[in-house]
This record gives sequence, C-alpha cells and structure tokens, in this order.
Amino acid sequence: MSRGDMAKPLLGHRSMEGDPSIAPTAGRTIGVLGSGDFARSLAIRLVCSGFKVVVGSRNPKRKAGLFPSAAEVTFQAEAVKKTDVIFVAVFREHYSTLCDLADVLAGKILVDVSNNTEINHHKESNAEYLASLFPACTVVKGFNVVSAWTLQSGARDGNKQVLICSNNQEAKRTVAEIAQVMGFTPVDMGCMSSACEIENIPLRLLPAWKIPIFLALGLFLCFFTYNLVRQVIHPYIREQKNKFYKIPIEVVNTTLPCVAYVMLSLVYLPGVLAACSQLYYGTKYRRFPDWLDQWLQHRKQIGLLSFFCAALHAMYSLCLPMRRSHRYQLIETAVKQAVEKKMNIWVEEEVWRMEIYISVGIIALGLLSLLAITSLPSIANSLNWREFSFIQSTLGFIALVISTLHTLTYGWSRAFDENQYKFYLPPTYTLTLLVPCTVILAKVIFSLPCIQKRLLRIRRGWEKGRYVKFVLPSATGEYSSGETSSNV
Ligand code: NAP
Repeated sequence: MSRGDMAKPLLGHRSMEGDPSIAPTAGRTIGVLGSGDFARSLAIRLVCSGFKVVVGSRNPKRKAGLFPSAAEVTFQAEAVKKTDVIFVAVFREHYSTLCDLADVLAGKILVDVSNNTEINHHKESNAEYLASLFPACTVVKGFNVVSAWTLQSGARDGNKQVLICSNNQEAKRTVAEIAQVMGFTPVDMGCMSSACEIENIPLRLLPAWKIPIFLALGLFLCFFTYNLVRQVIHPYIREQKNKFYKIPIEVVNTTLPCVAYVMLSLVYLPGVLAACSQLYYGTKYRRFPDWLDQWLQHRKQIGLLSFFCAALHAMYSLCLPMRRSHRYQLIETAVKQAVEKKMNIWVEEEVWRMEIYISVGIIALGLLSLLAITSLPSIANSLNWREFSFIQSTLGFIALVISTLHTLTYGWSRAFDENQYKFYLPPTYTLTLLVPCTVILAKVIFSLPCIQKRLLRIRRGWEKGRYVKFVLPSATGEYSSGETSSNV
C-alpha cells in the first residue's frame, strides 16, 4: 500500500500475498495495555498473524496464564518500552490511571479500542480524551467495532471491517496495515473528529431497520384487528359462536400475507412517486422531499420484511392441517355427509381455484426468496448493475404481479358475496389490493412509449424549459441524438 493510499477510503479487502508494503508490518512487536477479554483476544489474533506481542498488566504474574505462551506478559511500563504501537484495551474510566506512563509513552502510537455504554455518552470521544491525557502520543481510533469473539475467530465470521480515524496519516496507515495483516478490512474514516461517530456505531440497534419494523408492526396490528373483528368477534356477537381458538393460527395466518403483500408493494411505490415527481417537474435534479428520500433508502429492509412475513405465511399454511380443530372439522363434515348420504362433494371450480392459488403462491415466494438472497451484500457484490437491477426491479415487479394473482385467486368471487361483508366490512383481501394495484397500474402507464421516452430523457439529464443535447437509444438499440426543449 502506498502512503498516499490512506487519503482514499480503504474499503475492499486486499490480499496480503505479494504485497511488499505490508510485509514489514508482520513480525513487529505490538503492545497491549490491559489483560481483559479484549486484550486476550487481541493478543491471540496478533500472535496468530505473526506479530510479537507484549502485554502490559498491573499484575502480570496472575494474568500471564491467560495469554498464549508466545505473548510476553509484563508490567505496563516494561511493555510500553518494548514497542511503538500500543493497543489501549482498558475502559475510558481507567485512562487516567495510565498517566504515570506518560514519559515512556511519549512519541508512540496509542490505539484506542474503547466503547461507551450509551450513544454520545461524553462530550468528547474516548479517543480525543485519551489524546488530551497523552499529548506527546499519536492516538488512532480503531478496532472498537470488532468484538473480542470476532478477534478470536480471526475475521472468518462476523464483521470484517475495522473503522480507523486519526489526525496523523502515518499512524493511521500503520494501524491499517496491522488490521490487514490480521485479516480485517481497514476503512479510513478520516480525522479524529470521526471518533465519536465510530464509537457510536456498536451501540446502535439496527438503525436502518427501525422505520421498516415499525411499518410492518403497524400494518400487522391494523390487519390483525380487522381480521379478528371479522373472523372472531363477528360470529361471537351475531351467532354466539366461540371462534377464539382461531386467534393464534388462523387470524395470524390471514394477517401475515396481507402484511407481506402490502409491504412488497411499498417497495415499488416510492419509485412510482419519484417517477411522477420527475415527470411533473421535468427534471431529475430536483431533490425529493425528505420522507420520499427516506422511503427510497429503506426499500431493501421493507422488501426483506415482506419476504419474512411471506415465509412465515407459508409455514403457517403448511401447519394448518396439523391442528386438532381442523381434524374435528374434517370428521364433522364427513359425518354430516354420511348422514345426508352425499357421495360426490367435488366442486370443480373450487379445485381449480385452490390449485392455481397454491401454485402462484409458491412461485411468488420463490421470487421473493431470490430478491432477498440477491440483496445480501456478498451476493449483490458479485452481480453487475444490470443483473442487480433486473432481479430487484423486473423480477421484483413480476413477484408483485404474481402475488396479486395469488390474492385474487384466494378472494375469487368473495368480494361480490354480501355474506362476506361482516359488520359491513369488506373482505380483507380487497383492502390489500389497493396499493399493489395502484403500483401495477402506474408501472403499466409508465411503460407506455410516450411516457417511457420522456422519463428516460429526464433520467439522462434532459430538463423541462432548457435546450439540451440528448442522445437516446432507439427501439432497435441504436442511438439517436438531437436538440429539444420543454415543449417537445
Ligand atoms: P475487561 O475484561 O474489564 O478488561 C479491562 C482491563 O483493563 C483489565 O483486565 C485490566 O487489566 C485493565 N486495567 C488497567 N487499568 C485498570 C484500572 N485502573 N482498573 C481496572 N482495570 C484496569 O474489559 P474488556 O472487555 O477487555 O474491554 C477493554 C476495552 O476494550 C474497553 O475499552 C472496551 O470498551 C473495549 N472493547 C471491548 C470489546 C469486547 O468484546 N470485550 C469490544 C470492543 C471494544 P490489568 O488488571 O491486567 O491491568
């Protein structure tokens, strides 16, 4: 790695084989202050990566047995003297107890690996605090996003990225090299002012998932209540029938597909709204409102939650015949037929409806699985942009259309049966169709040549009211160019 490389983000794991700039790093002595869980895991990984390790402890005799024999465990001051790079694996509260070491630490690189217990717990980051206590040292923030467990497993599992920041480029480069030799991917996060952000990262609980999860829970609650009223409360009030046993499986199983289906349509609705905005304003350079921006950024999580609900629906459906209530109902129906001497109960239309309903349901779930798998970073990275957009956009839209067929075959003619309107409430499936059908209709309208052409031009930089040169692919794949204005 050249020295100038640290100016750029270090994303992307580089093979260490044959990299001459990394070779001198391995074999050097690295110091670790502290003998706790993190220090131990760090020492094991450093030793396994070919470094000499010297551990500084307040009580080396007692702690030596916890470390690999290749690591030297000694008093703090002794350890610090033997190396230029020291990992400070102690909590922030105890930094001040290291002040006696200030003289021996002068001129050395201190790697602050600490985390806090709360987001923005202190005014200044731990790394900045450490730097203020040891002004003669160079402090680098790093390794705090890696757990002791990940260090021991050697970056085979868990997070491979190590976020690094420092005001000193040279020190940052040294720590980045050590991380690479250890099998991690260093990511340059800039100068020390980023330390606070890096320290907050391990404390965040699924930040990108909050809105999608609340959306899914909200939808689930609404549909669950609606289905509960129709399937349980209505028969109880109108016919005094006890159908409460339906709550754990049947009501949940009619709710899950509603959530999955609406969530899937919500993946494609913001794209439709964005296209409407671009068509209306005749430009792609106008910022979308914040809520639409946020929505567009959460499409992956919304799609994955849709898949999750669809998978649960499939499992619940497979388990329906296992229930006692189902067996009793089957036997009851059989006895009734025997008493009434009914021989043929085959209803051709019902048979076909169920065959088609289940078949399209399986296809929809298969397509959703494909979308979910290809949204994983490791798989997405192996696809080029065209492949990714074909799967996520085209196949995703096909999944929405097939899910609509699944819903329609489930509902069949129930929307036209007045007995289905419990408390004047329409069947749930008719409600779920609203958003997906709007999305499908909008997509069909956008695919009309006149609109598609205008949208394509806008997305290639054409703006309403401005004369610009444009080049468009024709239907035959050839490119045509010309000048245009807003009135064209
Ligand atoms: P720990 O098990 O409690 O170890 C802390 C070590 O600090 C002790 O073993 C002690 O070693 C040393 N120390 C030095 N001065 C001390 C003092 N005055 N009082 C008490 N201890 C003192 O904690 P840890 O889990 O290893 O975490 C160490 C640092 O790594 C923390 O800043 C933590 O935020 C960070 N970290 C931990 C993890 C993790 O997975 N554990 C992950 C990321 C970051 P001696 O007795 O030998 O001096």
